[in-house]
Amino acid sequence: MAIIKEKTKIPEQKPEIRKTNFNEVALGYTEELALIEASRCLNCPKPKCVEGCPVEIDIPAFINLIKEKKYIEANQKIKEKNSLPAICGRVCPQEDQCEIKCILGINFEPVGIGRLERFVADYELAQDSMEIPELPPKTGKRVAIIGSGPAGLTAAGELIKQGHDVVVFEALHKCGGVLVYGIPEFRLPKDVVQKEIDYIAQLGVEFRTSKIIGKTLLIDDLKEEFDTIFLGNGAGLPYFMGIPGENLNGVYSANEFLTRANLMKAYLFPEFDTPIKYGEKVAVVGGGNVAMDSARTALRLGAGKVFIVYRRSRTELPAREEEIHHAEEEGINFNLLTNPVEIIGDEDGWVKEIKAIRMKLGEPDSSGRRRPIPIEGSEFSFKVNTVIMAIGQGANPLIAATAPDIETNKWGYFIVDDETQMTNVPGIFAGGDIVTGAATVILAAGAGKKAAKAMHEYLMKKD
Ligand code: FAD
Ligand code: SF4
Repeated sequence: MAIIKEKTKIPEQKPEIRKTNFNEVALGYTEELALIEASRCLNCPKPKCVEGCPVEIDIPAFINLIKEKKYIEANQKIKEKNSLPAICGRVCPQEDQCEIKCILGINFEPVGIGRLERFVADYELAQDSMEIPELPPKTGKRVAIIGSGPAGLTAAGELIKQGHDVVVFEALHKCGGVLVYGIPEFRLPKDVVQKEIDYIAQLGVEFRTSKIIGKTLLIDDLKEEFDTIFLGNGAGLPYFMGIPGENLNGVYSANEFLTRANLMKAYLFPEFDTPIKYGEKVAVVGGGNVAMDSARTALRLGAGKVFIVYRRSRTELPAREEEIHHAEEEGINFNLLTNPVEIIGDEDGWVKEIKAIRMKLGEPDSSGRRRPIPIEGSEFSFKVNTVIMAIGQGANPLIAATAPDIETNKWGYFIVDDETQMTNVPGIFAGGDIVTGAATVILAAGAGKKAAKAMHEYLMKKD
């Protein structure tokens, strides 16, 4: 049979319609489309795709199960390595991981591995009841997990399956971490995240929300009640540029803007209590996924014109290509090779314009990307009413400050052993963004899984 050269297209909402609503952009494969796409996989004896996957999912095996129409088994195959397939199938940067390595991709478009992962995960989620595995007898050991993002959820899911009692402490009133407060509904529907959390709860994990470790309870309190602790508190502290005018009304961190919109459902105000104020012209500073999410959220809220302001060129934009493409299709404007130097306000203290400078690219810097250099005398201003800073985020110092015996590096991230994810304090493990700095869902989930394995071994040796 001749090989189909192109990846099977995923049905999507049309740009002119989707930019007016918060529903998911990509609609997912039908069974027919999934079978066509699965048929493109060569079932390579030495599959390179697996090498590209941070958690080494047996990709040809799960695609083979799709070919046999065994969709639940295919999802179970993925779950052997990744507990969050419906989420990762949607937001993993597959184009830089498994798909970039796909052997079919040498001559044609690679297999749509992420789209197939999403298909089988959604298939299982759509069934009335999820298969709950038989759990081993209780060990009597108690585990505390701090944070309910992908790192914490994965660690919790793995440890409950070993027979331990697991309690997750979450600062917010809702679980899911960035999956619920950061990534917007139109990329990752919250009911998909909730179903994955419900599954972990059905396994027996207890979730205690609105518990800020370092304030409501200290690590020392947890040490008394639990045999081991996992720190999965993420990197949620927003960075600002340090330029004049960042304290004006109308300047948000992307974190605040997205939290209002996603977690607090401000896009449904006044049906939900939290408002979100934005002007006719919105500038988003930054070029990563967070910037694209903020810009596309502002557009959907009703902003007239939305600009991405980024200091390098389009080639260096760190966001996923798919998200940049979607943003362009929806009419987001890109002010590239441009860097703000000041935000200027009106007499009432509200943002009225950005003063910026044009940039050119020099030699690559330590990040491997070409260094942006300001072009002298090229300053210019443009009118905006809202500015959203999406230039990155770092470690929130609360836990480190209240548990100073746990070692951190100079950026405040916990230092762990590479093999076990254990910190310098025996029995305290850490993983996800709070160790690596802002990274990806699958890397956080992978760290949670690695830590869970080592925590289980630690618990079994403990007495
Ligand atoms: P988080 O998801 O940050 O979860 C940490 C949790 O800990 C939070 O719920 C927080 O409330 C809680 N917490 C913090 N401090 C405390 C405390 N003291 N006590 C109790 N709880 C606490 N990655 C991708 O792979 N693909 C994408 O498309 C993508 N898009 C993104 C878009 C946005 C807007 C953002 C912000 C990130 C995006 N990422 C993406 C990155 C990805 O979401 C993160 O790398 C990942 O969520 C990190 O997981 P984590 O479990 O380490 O932390
Ligand atoms: Fe299939 Fe590509 Fe993996 Fe080969 S490398 S097994 S074609 S997904």
